[in-house]
Amino acid sequence: MAYRLVIKPEQIQQQQIQLTSSQQHYLRRVLRLKDGDRFVAMDGVGKSWWAKIGNTSACLLEPIDISTELPVTVTLITALPKGNAYDEVVRCCTELGVSIFQPVISDRTLLKPSPHKLERWRRIVTEAAEQAERQIVPIVLEPVLFTEILTWEIYDETERYICVARGGVAHLSNYLQHSVRNNILIATGPEGGWTKEEVEKAIAVGYQPVSLGNRILRAVTAPIVALSLVAAAMEN
Ligand code: SAH
Repeated sequence: MAYRLVIKPEQIQQQQIQLTSSQQHYLRRVLRLKDGDRFVAMDGVGKSWWAKIGNTSACLLEPIDISTELPVTVTLITALPKGNAYDEVVRCCTELGVSIFQPVISDRTLLKPSPHKLERWRRIVTEAAEQAERQIVPIVLEPVLFTEILTWEIYDETERYICVARGGVAHLSNYLQHSVRNNILIATGPEGGWTKEEVEKAIAVGYQPVSLGNRILRAVTAPIVALSLVAAAMEN
């Protein structure tokens, strides 16, 4: 396994990566790399290279063109669960291939998250993307009201699903088999579930209500299951 480091594209100048002091610390103290050791540098937006560590910089060797990304862009809308439970959602779903995380406040969300949470989620996502050997670091958007998102037109061309725990709707897998779009959006609710009004409003703007199986999954488990189904359907 190769060590991976996410860098910003602007850190690259003439085949050299200008390392920040925290990146130097991470490579030398945490990973214990020495001058001349190799690691994988990824710019977070699709490119990665073999790089060789130097003094305060690293030298780019050759680009790496394997792809570990899903063939579709997946946006995950998650009604924020209690406490720090969203940490687990962003970590696991980054491993599973999500491109965009959109946390939302729903009718039954208890608390608005504090602003420092966003930084924390972004850090977790970066670590998980490195760990999972992805080429991109997923984006974590600021939390917004779910009902507000339903008024946005940017998702009109996206295949949109809302997961509902009850109600005898068809399984997500049935739809994924016949999926034709490059963009998929999946929304999962909070511990108390979506309200009837939220589901109705979502359906009215084009969301397809779907099941993830016959058991009631926790708010943290549901997005992980949904993503596993997408990966299984799209990757073979
Ligand atoms: N307390 C609610 C369930 C909430 S589960 C109840 O008893 O009805 C939290 C969220 O996970 C739900 O809003 C839904 O989006 C998703 N979910 C859980 N189990 C599911 C299932 N079997 N099918 C589809 N979605 C599910």
